[in-house]
Amino acid sequence: MTEAGSYSDFIRDRVRKDLEEGTYGGRVQTRFPPEPNGYLHIGHAKAITVDFGTAEQFGGICNLRLDDTNPDTEEAEYFTSILDDIAWLGYTPAAVLHASDYFAQLYEWAELLVERGLAYVDDQDGETISAQRGGFGKPGTNSPFRDRPVAENLDLLRRMKAGEFPDGSRVLRAKIDMNHENMALRDPVMYRIRHSHHFRTGDEWCIYPTYDWAHGQSDAIEKVTHSICTLEFDTHRPLYDWYLEQLPLPAEKPQQIEFARLELTHTVTSKRRLAKLVADGTVDGWDDARMPTLRGLRRRGYPAAALRAFCTEVGTTRTNSRQNIEALEAYVRRELNQTAQRRMAVLRPLRVVIDNWPTDADGSPVTEKFEVGNNPENPADGTRLVSFSGELFIETDDFAEVPPPKFFRLSIGREVRLRGAYLITATSVEHDAVGNVTCVHATYDPATRGGDAPDGRKVKSTMHWVSAPHAIEVEVALYERLFTAPVPGDATGEALDDLNPTSRQVLAGCKVEAALAEVTPGQVVQFERLGYFAADLDQSGLFHRTVGLRDEWAAIQKRQG
Ligand code: ATP
Ligand code: MG
Repeated sequence: MTEAGSYSDFIRDRVRKDLEEGTYGGRVQTRFPPEPNGYLHIGHAKAITVDFGTAEQFGGICNLRLDDTNPDTEEAEYFTSILDDIAWLGYTPAAVLHASDYFAQLYEWAELLVERGLAYVDDQDGETISAQRGGFGKPGTNSPFRDRPVAENLDLLRRMKAGEFPDGSRVLRAKIDMNHENMALRDPVMYRIRHSHHFRTGDEWCIYPTYDWAHGQSDAIEKVTHSICTLEFDTHRPLYDWYLEQLPLPAEKPQQIEFARLELTHTVTSKRRLAKLVADGTVDGWDDARMPTLRGLRRRGYPAAALRAFCTEVGTTRTNSRQNIEALEAYVRRELNQTAQRRMAVLRPLRVVIDNWPTDADGSPVTEKFEVGNNPENPADGTRLVSFSGELFIETDDFAEVPPPKFFRLSIGREVRLRGAYLITATSVEHDAVGNVTCVHATYDPATRGGDAPDGRKVKSTMHWVSAPHAIEVEVALYERLFTAPVPGDATGEALDDLNPTSRQVLAGCKVEAALAEVTPGQVVQFERLGYFAADLDQSGLFHRTVGLRDEWAAIQKRQG
């Protein structure tokens, strides 16, 4: 269940007005119409929140309609992933429908237009037809077949449908106006011949409707009231309306409303380019944690609630713009701060031996257990016991043999706090053959149990740690932006030129507290001081860094004043 909210934007204002005026008898019905030719991405999440969110806010319904009018690019596999991704985002379509279910009705209506002299069969090839389109301020040229008699058009259309003609040999066109100032109305194509197998209708059809001929009519058949789409369909709206005005509709004419696509910095959403990343092996697949697909974002640990909130609150307008990815990350961080349990993990472990740590009667080191809260933001998450012993791991860069100025973490002679445990002081180090520090020796102050000194003395650093004998080992994937440039392709025109060659770094041998053996696939936890990390959906013992802890978005906003 999602939060319907009470948002306002130009689309919702329009819906509100229609409700007040009773335009659709008080009904609100939208649809989300993906083409099943790829995986949904962050841009689709925006469309989904607009389509479903608007309907929800006004007590209406939103259907999922698969816009499956192109047999050559569509596959059943995509259909399943689309259903799954929408459910993951938190929405439930009122019904799952297919444009291909309307092929018969669309065809019937096409014959109707032919009979009324509003459509004709053109025997010219695609190239010739587009050469005759003209341009802005340049009139088009009528096709020599434009004034074919109705009976001949009807006969040819039926024979096109019956499969008598090869691909590309003829099209059905609407007869509107080859001099119309809007190019979309210069006798647009309604049907093409394609002897292709369709993943739902099989070989039943060999003519397929164009987007424009299918879309508005599908809306009308389903009794959609508000057909919300992106800005590139702006110039198609007069055609959308023209088709609907010629036909005997089952309900009031739906209206098309366009809004600006969601674009993000450092992100590419073009399916063609994303497909290339997959094909080239630049990423592991469509669900790689670096991909802007919903599957990728999910693997990365982005909560659906954060995507919904971002897409909704970023606003819906008619002005194209690019949102900062840091703003999206701020939503992710805000959500995870509430929901993610805290754990301790050491990504680049350095061994620390506490020389004055007590041993049992049998000579083995004592284990102490500290009770720590799972999430300071949410006491209901309870506490857990974390083991502590005389042998620990800390982050390699939390120790400096020769501390640079302003380095306040562990160094020889310096006392620091091990979070929630004790104050320790480093005393000496061991090196390997090439001079790297392999082990730090330290002493602890037994009077500082819990992390505070009874005499009130202060330390400048608190560090996370993991008890060595209790640690488990995991792999951690760290990420940078997949594209280095804020606007990929800005300089060269090709987004893939801006690919970041070091977008992923996998660290093996990370040491984490034992409780992390119990994460569920996809669960996101905060590794203290390091960021939020998602347990991989498939591979146990692998974590993806979702986002760091620092709010870069706040810093950007501050800089921008
Ligand atoms: P792509 O360009 O990525 O292939 P598309 O528009 O061809 O996207 P469709 O499957 O046809 O993909 O899109 C389904 C719906 O999602 C459409 O209504 C489309 O306008 C919308 N949509 C696609 N990309 C975005 C985006 N970046 N922002 C907002 N809505 C989008
Ligand atoms: Mg499309």
